[in-house]
Amino acid sequence: MTHPFLDLAPLTAARFAAIERRVAGLLDTEQDVVIMQGEALLPLEGCIRGGARPGSAALNIVTGPYGQTFGDWLRDCGADVVDLSVPFHSAVTAEQVERALAEHPEIDFVSLVHAEAATGNTNPVAGIGEVVRAHGALFMVDAVASVGAEPLLPDAWGVDLCVIGAQKAMGGPAGVSMVSVSPRAWERMASNPQAPRRSYLSLLDWKARWIDGGRRALPHAPAQLEMLALDACLERIEADGLDMVMARHASAAAATRAGATALGGGLEPYVHEARDAAPVATTLRTPAGVDASELVAHALAADPALPLVAGGGRLSKEMIRVNHYGVDATRETVLASLAALGAALTDAGRTPDLDAARAAVGETWPNS
Ligand SMILES: *Cc1c(COP(=O)(O)O)cnc(C)c1O
Repeated sequence: MTHPFLDLAPLTAARFAAIERRVAGLLDTEQDVVIMQGEALLPLEGCIRGGARPGSAALNIVTGPYGQTFGDWLRDCGADVVDLSVPFHSAVTAEQVERALAEHPEIDFVSLVHAEAATGNTNPVAGIGEVVRAHGALFMVDAVASVGAEPLLPDAWGVDLCVIGAQKAMGGPAGVSMVSVSPRAWERMASNPQAPRRSYLSLLDWKARWIDGGRRALPHAPAQLEMLALDACLERIEADGLDMVMARHASAAAATRAGATALGGGLEPYVHEARDAAPVATTLRTPAGVDASELVAHALAADPALPLVAGGGRLSKEMIRVNHYGVDATRETVLASLAALGAALTDAGRTPDLDAARAAVGETWPNS
């Protein structure tokens, strides 16, 4: 008897290439797609170490914790880094990016996180792409938390390095990740003597050993189970329709925002403007005197399956994340999350209005 996870036939080069084409279809891109055999931090670090070097100058846009990590890597590479930071309850604007580029004409690399699942905001990549392209810098975008939840068009938006992972809105595996690479990005890495080569971080190795050879022989044994799971998740998105998957995430975010506002009890949306709120996850601010991690622990004690988590680091006291992505982008999960938070707030001595929250969810996301 064969085991469903074991005893599998090897993943062929043809199958691997077919999965790459499926990813390219999802992103509507003509660029090369590389499927890196590790979690999304692998291509993110690979892109930065491939694009930056001593003497280069980078604009690092910080709208959440991932942007902070990118700045550290850029500095490691010896690049001069200009950090453009905005409060985590907002988004950066194309005008702010345009001004930073005008003040620093030497900038040749721009890094941006599209949606921040950790802080619940999303940035206007299309408009930022226009000003980055006009300036001539290479544009890297971390779209791990936006892909599948909101429109993402690397070619139309002038993104040179677009990194995605399947573990959020795509509802897929976390162990492999994808990056689309423009011809300009390949040129930049090829001309960078510091770009990783003969390394697990190297995108250039994939180009030399896989793409340029016509995708006929895989350089190493692939992460077979993760690749099969990625293929299955792409197939499911194609069957449901990408527009439908994105619409579910948009509705989950709108309903959570409206429901939490109606719930009250001191809870409010963390991201001030609805247009800056990410469809992938909704962040909420707890009232003064209510510790977010304690409130979440209390809510999860009643229902451990709910996608609730307190903010990371110093945000753990004041931020709750409702991770309504993938299988959790449903009306039922939104309602159950709000009910659990309402019960926990009541136990904390607050007076939330669960009927009002239910009504607000019903209005925002009618039961079709
Ligand atoms: C989730 C996410 C990643 C992937 O990182 P994990 O720490 O493995 O979750 C990368 N970038 C962004 C913006 C994310 O939201």
